Amino acid sequence: MGEWEAVIGLEVHTELRTATKLFCGCPNAFGVEPNTSVCPVCLGLPGSLPVLNAKAVELAITVGLALSSRIQPSQFHRKNYFYPDMPKDYQISQYDVPVNAGGAVALRSGKVVGIVRAHLEEDTGKLVHRGGGGRIGGAEYSLIDYNRSGVPLLEIVSEPEISSAEEAKEYVSELRAILVATGASDGRMEEGSLRVDANVSVRPSGSAELRTRVEIKNVNSLRSLGRAIGYEIERQIAVYEGGGSILQQTRHFDEASGETLPLRAKEEANDYRYFPEPDLPPISPLPAEVERIASELPLLPAGRRSRLFELVEGASPDQVEVAIAEEVWPYVTASIDFGVAPELVLARAANELVALIGDAGLLTPLRFAEVVALEERFSPSQVKLLLKGAVGFDGTVEELVARVGLSSSGAEDARAMIKEVVEANPEEWGRFVAGDAKVGGFLLGQVMRKFGRAISGAQARAALDELASGAAGE
Ligand code: ADP
Ligand code: MG
Ligand code: ZN
Repeated sequence: MGEWEAVIGLEVHTELRTATKLFCGCPNAFGVEPNTSVCPVCLGLPGSLPVLNAKAVELAITVGLALSSRIQPSQFHRKNYFYPDMPKDYQISQYDVPVNAGGAVALRSGKVVGIVRAHLEEDTGKLVHRGGGGRIGGAEYSLIDYNRSGVPLLEIVSEPEISSAEEAKEYVSELRAILVATGASDGRMEEGSLRVDANVSVRPSGSAELRTRVEIKNVNSLRSLGRAIGYEIERQIAVYEGGGSILQQTRHFDEASGETLPLRAKEEANDYRYFPEPDLPPISPLPAEVERIASELPLLPAGRRSRLFELVEGASPDQVEVAIAEEVWPYVTASIDFGVAPELVLARAANELVALIGDAGLLTPLRFAEVVALEERFSPSQVKLLLKGAVGFDGTVEELVARVGLSSSGAEDARAMIKEVVEANPEEWGRFVAGDAKVGGFLLGQVMRKFGRAISGAQARAALDELASGAAGE
């Protein structure tokens, strides 16, 4: 790129994990029969009135606190535009006074991306186009599902401080981890519960100007986000270098061709005729409520990361990333609290636990901790067998040991295994006892070949030496 640098600001829409919708009592449900989770309010029928969902406000504040935003009194507005997925012909959204103002997301690289605001709004329904490849253009007809209409959304708007496609992906994955850790979102991009619009412009490297931006819609995975931004950066540079200019546009990312295509000229705020929603009073969060929410914030991804790096000097960053993931973290904290060495916890979590995670509902964090703690008595491979055996097993730890077929002491097992190999190789054994140390390697090799996954090299060596010193003394 050299002479040009990219300027990127992201708008992340996240569906909040409430039981019901933002302004009515309909279930906030994904994947149910179309148009079954609807009522006069979320269908926009005349005479219906919105009632604000307090849980949605609480989750919005939770996210605001996690992003170090200022939590402020706020107000809903009507954003007026016509689209068939929006039955009222206006969307209830926060406009100039959002619940959360300012804030930041610190990326793993150390870069900090500023947050402009995070505001509450209602989701629209969902159009499905039939025929013509599912695109509105060539479709024969369209179907509409209003189940999503009125689902609470939090729109998190970043400052234009992201500088590359890679950094945009990093930002979204860090933000996603924060949203999941706070319980505000399930973070499922593939189900549309996290949706990203990317604003992209380019400028001469080192300049501070903000040139005309393009907004890319419909990116539904991190990979597509990276591709769409990468394409758009190159396109804009080529336009400028060809002496052209960029139009302020909304563009659509086409998965198949990897291109962004113009969708429409970008609207300005005044096109929407915003005005205060007369059916909803302003919201003024009580300081005591905000304090309570702050006191209940969980340890966020950045805090989890630094805790692990503090506990394990020189920890593998890859293992740490796995360990702080939402579904793994409870196992990690349970094991550390149980007294297992943190480096061991990291290794078992990143390797064995993630392989079992599909079944992990059947393996409680405490049971994981108990089994990993057994590594004092058993070899790593035996512990791995125990972990597998522990899935769905609810007896005691000793019962688990017996069930997996290990005797209660790892050393005893090792002795039995060595004995078996020694008896099968009497000649080599004789030479070893007579002092030919080289044969030791052969005997250990036989042990490992036969019992490898159930015994550690060190245990086998110790048992072999013990048996040999006993034999020599006879
Ligand atoms: P709109 O309602 O028009 O989408 P918002 O204020 O909600 O406007 O969002 C604007 C987004 O565009 C923000 O994320 C902001 O960082 C980003 N942005 C603003 N100017 C530029 C620019 N010149 N280049 C890239 N991104 C920009
Ligand atoms: Mg916007
Ligand atoms: Zn409803």
